[in-house]
Amino acid sequence: MTQDWFHPFPHIERNGIVRKDLSFRIAAFTAVILAAPAFAQQDFSKVEIQTDKLSDSVYMMTGAGGNLGVSVGEDGVFVIDDQFAPLTGKIQAAITKLSAKPVKFILNTHWHFDHTGGNENFGKAGTVIVAQENVRKRLSSEGFIEFLGMKTKPEPAIALPVVTFTRDISFHLNGDEIRAVHAPRAHTDGDTVVQFAKSDVIHMGDTFFNGLYPFIDTSSGGTVAGVLAAADRGLKMAGDKTKIIPGHGPLATKADLKAYRDMLAAVSANVAGQVKQGKKVEDVVASKPTAQFDAVWGKGFLAPDKFVEMLYGNLKKK
Ligand SMILES: [Zn+2]
Repeated sequence: MTQDWFHPFPHIERNGIVRKDLSFRIAAFTAVILAAPAFAQQDFSKVEIQTDKLSDSVYMMTGAGGNLGVSVGEDGVFVIDDQFAPLTGKIQAAITKLSAKPVKFILNTHWHFDHTGGNENFGKAGTVIVAQENVRKRLSSEGFIEFLGMKTKPEPAIALPVVTFTRDISFHLNGDEIRAVHAPRAHTDGDTVVQFAKSDVIHMGDTFFNGLYPFIDTSSGGTVAGVLAAADRGLKMAGDKTKIIPGHGPLATKADLKAYRDMLAAVSANVAGQVKQGKKVEDVVASKPTAQFDAVWGKGFLAPDKFVEMLYGNLKKK
């Protein structure tokens, strides 16, 4: 947990956001992912939930795990993702500071444990959990995240999405129109991108890692092409003033999303070309296809070599 974790995010200063505890949060996420089978034993006691106001009704919250999007107002509280179960109390406390109304809906951007860990707690409290249908399928059966070597158990019924959709769903809440759209075969097979139309905010889920090389979960149906398509979709929805919440990393602009898209397109095209030539994974890694991007993107939880290895596995499978 060194201060170095702070530096991979040049966007922070650009966006004018000061986050002294970001280093801890990113490091916590890293530790959790790398020690995935032991994540339940992680110490969350020092994690703090930070709230950033993005519009009159929409907020971003960060703690450990995926970034949250929160809409508050007359109609109740709508939340995107819920991190880890031990953080539910802190998340709830942070929400209570914004609104006395109950959390009506939680939308899961995908099934991964660092975005759905609080489902059981919120489900018990009466929140309606909503997700793309593949999220419910994966949460209700045994899972395996191959790249992390991590097995997951089926979630209890109370933690499962009770409303599912195939393509898209809209919420008319708090004076906003919240449009949730399925991004097929992207980071997983159940990703959703959410647009708060009036507030001009987009939550990309894990189809966007801002300032760090993204993880694409091939064993959950994820593909590089799907992530690129999701990024393109986000770019089409966004204007120059749109605030974009990534699944991981700091709040972003359209330009940040474009830089991410261009980085992923360039590196994956390079790796795909070498896969086509029949090159072995160690030779592709040794060719350093990420070299020009490492200074900006290479200090997050996926080191450059690991990222190339992951892309190789995904593109070879295709
Ligand atoms: Zn994920």
